[in-house]
Amino acid sequence: MKKIAILGSTGSIGTQTLEIARTNGDLEITALAAGSNVERLEAQIREFHPSLAAVWTEEKAKELKSRIRDLDVRVVTGMEGLIEVAEQPESGILVTAIVGMIGIRPTIAAMKAGKDIALANKETLVTAGHIIMPLAEECGVRILPVDSEHSAIFQCLNGENRGELHKILLTASGGPFRGKKKEELRDVQVEDALKHPNWSMGRKITIDSATLVNKGLEMMEARWLFGVEPEDIKIVVQPKSIIHSMVEFADGAVIAQLGTPDMKLPIQYALYYPQRRYLPGERLDFWKLGQITFEEPDMENFPGLGLAFDAAAAGGSLPTVYNAANERAVALFLDRKIGFLEIPELIERCMKEHKVIKAPSVEEILQTETEVYERIEQMRH
Ligand code: NDP
Ligand code: MG
Repeated sequence: MKKIAILGSTGSIGTQTLEIARTNGDLEITALAAGSNVERLEAQIREFHPSLAAVWTEEKAKELKSRIRDLDVRVVTGMEGLIEVAEQPESGILVTAIVGMIGIRPTIAAMKAGKDIALANKETLVTAGHIIMPLAEECGVRILPVDSEHSAIFQCLNGENRGELHKILLTASGGPFRGKKKEELRDVQVEDALKHPNWSMGRKITIDSATLVNKGLEMMEARWLFGVEPEDIKIVVQPKSIIHSMVEFADGAVIAQLGTPDMKLPIQYALYYPQRRYLPGERLDFWKLGQITFEEPDMENFPGLGLAFDAAAAGGSLPTVYNAANERAVALFLDRKIGFLEIPELIERCMKEHKVIKAPSVEEILQTETEVYERIEQMRH
């Protein structure tokens, strides 16, 4: 039986991971970590019987402990708690379904403890890919992509010679505002931005999809996962999200992975790799589909994407600045404190002011994050 621990079990990816465990019946859940949703976490604990659970604050821990006082489950908190879940001796795979750079330290701890990583938490690779990828090799663990595009690329590369890979064709839906111009984007509301045409996801990544920052983060994620240069990653807008991504080889052959948009496929593939399991759900019907269309990404009206290529080209600590500024800007947008277009504006300002540290350590990455947060605070006063 595969033994799995999950960081972020109450979120979109976390709950779908547990759905897969429920359907298959042969995955053992050994530890769960959540932020603050103790009600959902309690239900998960009662259903899946982990021996360890983490929540972020002491207050939430108290609440959880009282809810599950009839059960024998240890409850831990804070960063130490997340790391304890990541390192837990019983588990073999850690699913990183937490959102944001908070995932860096637990992911590293899990790799050092010999766990394979089913990675959804792209922010960790974007900011610390230069540390994570060599460490995976050193520790002899696998990084299995959960992000649908990266799972698609991973599937396309099965049995191929990586040296013959020429280009990654990263597909993008274009988000809810595809086709809109800057003037039209200025006053869009949180509710409009949260309406993704094809996927139902957590709030942060849904906003990232609307700004195209998500595609920028995914470009950097792909760069580390598959060892390619940013200029060898091409963004292809494909509005229906049927093609999940493609690869082009030296001879010009293009291989794609297609399917209905359902995150359970990439999650399940990562958990059972290299096995494929039956997955209930709709199948692609090409007669009904009729056509698949393609476009270039609109970098002018969605500057968040171009900024990602700038950050990737400079490398070092600049992707951390890009990511941290975006994390804070998205939180401000969700709180209705800034407008939609201010998200890329804040990212750009922070990137311009930053003095790049080459190959930053984890401490320097976290320090950079703090500095960016402080800088954004100053800018707003
Ligand atoms: P959600 O916002 O739905 O879920 C985030 C999870 O992280 C929740 O369980 C939340 O707990 C937990 N969490 C947040 N803060 C803390 C904290 N301080 N300590 C412990 N747990 C915490 O996000 P998604 O599932 O959408 O995304 C997760 C990651 O996967 C992101 O990096 C995203 O980019 C990536 N991803 C997501 C996809 C999707 O379809 N959703 C697709 C591809 C990638 P709580 O709610 O209890 O506070
Ligand atoms: Mg994706």
